[in-house]
Amino acid sequence: MQKDQFFTRRRMLLAGAALGAAGTAGAVLASGGTEPAGPAAVPVAGPQARQALAPSAFRLQPLTGHGPPRAAPRRLKVRREPILRLSGRGRRMVLTFDDGPHPEYTPHILDTLAKYDVRAMFFVCGEMAVANRELLARMADEGHVVGNHTWTHPLLTTLGRRAIRSEMERTSDIIEDAYGERPQWFRAPYGAWNRAAFQLGAEMGMEPMAWTVDTTDWTEPGTAAIVDRVESGAAPGVVVLSHDAGGDRSQSVRAIREYLPYLIDSGYHLTVPRRRL
Ligand code: ZN
Repeated sequence: MQKDQFFTRRRMLLAGAALGAAGTAGAVLASGGTEPAGPAAVPVAGPQARQALAPSAFRLQPLTGHGPPRAAPRRLKVRREPILRLSGRGRRMVLTFDDGPHPEYTPHILDTLAKYDVRAMFFVCGEMAVANRELLARMADEGHVVGNHTWTHPLLTTLGRRAIRSEMERTSDIIEDAYGERPQWFRAPYGAWNRAAFQLGAEMGMEPMAWTVDTTDWTEPGTAAIVDRVESGAAPGVVVLSHDAGGDRSQSVRAIREYLPYLIDSGYHLTVPRRRL
């Protein structure tokens, strides 16, 4: 009941967001689109491969309602590089926030996005999400897109395939439980991708997304420096990287209060990638 209402509300919000996205049907992605992979493109993992996974602890916890059954993820084409930007049609830009959600900083960022009626992407870490489920529910309620940023934020290039799978799959599980659906995007910590990460992401139905403009806010360069990097890097199709956790992010919180109205006044449409249906 409550959960059903939650999902209905979420769908309505998403439908509204899609309509609001300038009515531009067609792929948002600049580099290759989101067409499903042909059967030859992606090796199909059989049921045995799935059974080999350790069950996620979160799946063993009772849910507070009866949500829809977990759908098998749609397999995607395996990319060799992450997506760096979107199509610039409609002067679209995307704001992304990594490493959260954080109870101190993320709510302020959500407040600012709500103030300007703007949607953004949050690439969350599982270990943060599990402690801050209510923030994922709020992101769902307010139409934001949540992506997978692994469980513990490791350097994936130092891990074996099984460990990478665990990092990604557990995170998708907690996102599904707290946000309401499995993520369709993932981002490697430190932007360090390898072939296994691309393959596993595609297997789990997630597109790899990097960024165009790095605010380097994690170095705490000062609010003005972050604002300047966003404003000087602004261009159609740009994906902006910021952080809402992983350290003191008060500069990032203050910066978005300045650059967001500037971007809107400059005619940019801050949006999220169109969902696959
Ligand atoms: Zn990160």
